[in-house]
Amino acid sequence: MADEFSLKAPKGTFDTLPPEGEALLQVRTSMAEGIARAGYAYIETPVLEDTAVFVRGVGESTDVVSKEMYSFTTKGGDDVTLRPEGTAAVMRAVLEHSLHKGALPVKLWYSGSFFRYERPQAGRYRHFSQVGAEAIGSDDPALDAELIATAMDVFTTLGLTRVKLLLNCLGDHNDRPAYRAALASYLDGLDLDAPTRERAKVNPLRVLDDKRPEVQEQLAGVPLVTDYLSADNRAHYDTVRELLSRCGVQWEESPKLVRGLDYYTRTAFEFVHDGLGAQSAVGGGGRYDGLSASLGGPDLPAVGWALGVDRTMLALRAEGVRLVGARTLDVFVVPLGESVATAAFELVTLLRRAGVRADMAVDGRGAKGAMKAANRSAAPLAIVMGDRDVAAGEVQLKDMATGDQTAVPRESILSAVLAALDELDGPTPRRPVGGSA
Ligand code: AMP
Repeated sequence: MADEFSLKAPKGTFDTLPPEGEALLQVRTSMAEGIARAGYAYIETPVLEDTAVFVRGVGESTDVVSKEMYSFTTKGGDDVTLRPEGTAAVMRAVLEHSLHKGALPVKLWYSGSFFRYERPQAGRYRHFSQVGAEAIGSDDPALDAELIATAMDVFTTLGLTRVKLLLNCLGDHNDRPAYRAALASYLDGLDLDAPTRERAKVNPLRVLDDKRPEVQEQLAGVPLVTDYLSADNRAHYDTVRELLSRCGVQWEESPKLVRGLDYYTRTAFEFVHDGLGAQSAVGGGGRYDGLSASLGGPDLPAVGWALGVDRTMLALRAEGVRLVGARTLDVFVVPLGESVATAAFELVTLLRRAGVRADMAVDGRGAKGAMKAANRSAAPLAIVMGDRDVAAGEVQLKDMATGDQTAVPRESILSAVLAALDELDGPTPRRPVGGSA
């Protein structure tokens, strides 16, 4: 029968296949470990939220809410949206469960899938993956600085050297009105098309973000928010920068950086990489002191970021960084014939329970086919076992790089494998099932 399979992943989405999948997991793990180290605890919220969470939280005038949401009405009549970002949902959860009434700040991190109905292009997808972090309930600039420093350290740990930090302070309800008025009157005098004028009317700050050269040229003399900051906000921003300097984090002042979501106040930042073309941000964030109130909660200052897992993968590729340790298997077990398949199965289970990544040849392959499978698996070790070995109470442990093979008594195979792996990798903690290493 002809092969008629023609299904594809939806437009703007993609599959991550092995071995890239291992690298992706490592990126996520590095981000998670980096932020957990700073005292952030893991939170998981649904992929679906009440549409109002984003409309109220992110802001109706934003592209995200006005154009990019996957929103629908359920059979029961609820208006829900596939989350386009994490912050509003985390704030909803904090307020719903009164976490803000306990010890402050509430420091949380999350990881997962996000959805935006965008025009797909390199680095911009309709389904993407983020790791995010939020510190809620304090306006201490140390939190802004800690989040920024932690993210920069994650990129460094991953081996990236070309991530640049762009930094700005957007002011808040005290200084924003005067700035907004100055900006709006400047924009009035420019030659802008009708949609841009419309955007300027809803939120003039958004025009600063316009990437088109004909717009950017006209913005050469635009009033800058940093010239309108109140003394308090200036002091806050100064402290953030002082703390970053103290821990050796470098940045570039970016007075036109506004970010795409309405809830940002005061510190705003983006991590950009020069190897990604137009979609250069590998992460971004800032302070969102007004978000809680816009969701109907109390005034609750907060700061956070989201790092793009997919774009970080692209940045690693652009810099030619291969993540080390992205090995799927430690040992491949080769039963030489059906008669030893059960013994091989027992052995592979024993190894897995001891925390070793082990696999075996299946489908009753002959010796040649099974050895080929071992080679393909890229495991550094193979255990070859035939009738005679099993009868003699031993197996052959093979170093796949050198081809050296040693007979090992069956009862000491686990310690022999662990010793061989330690020699390869250095002492590595393994997590056995049901006990400590
Ligand atoms: P944002 O919430 O828009 O600031 O997004 C934070 C980070 O998520 C960005 O810096 C990107 O790295 C990543 N990101 C946002 N939107 C997309 C998308 N459509 N495709 C891939 N990555 C994205």
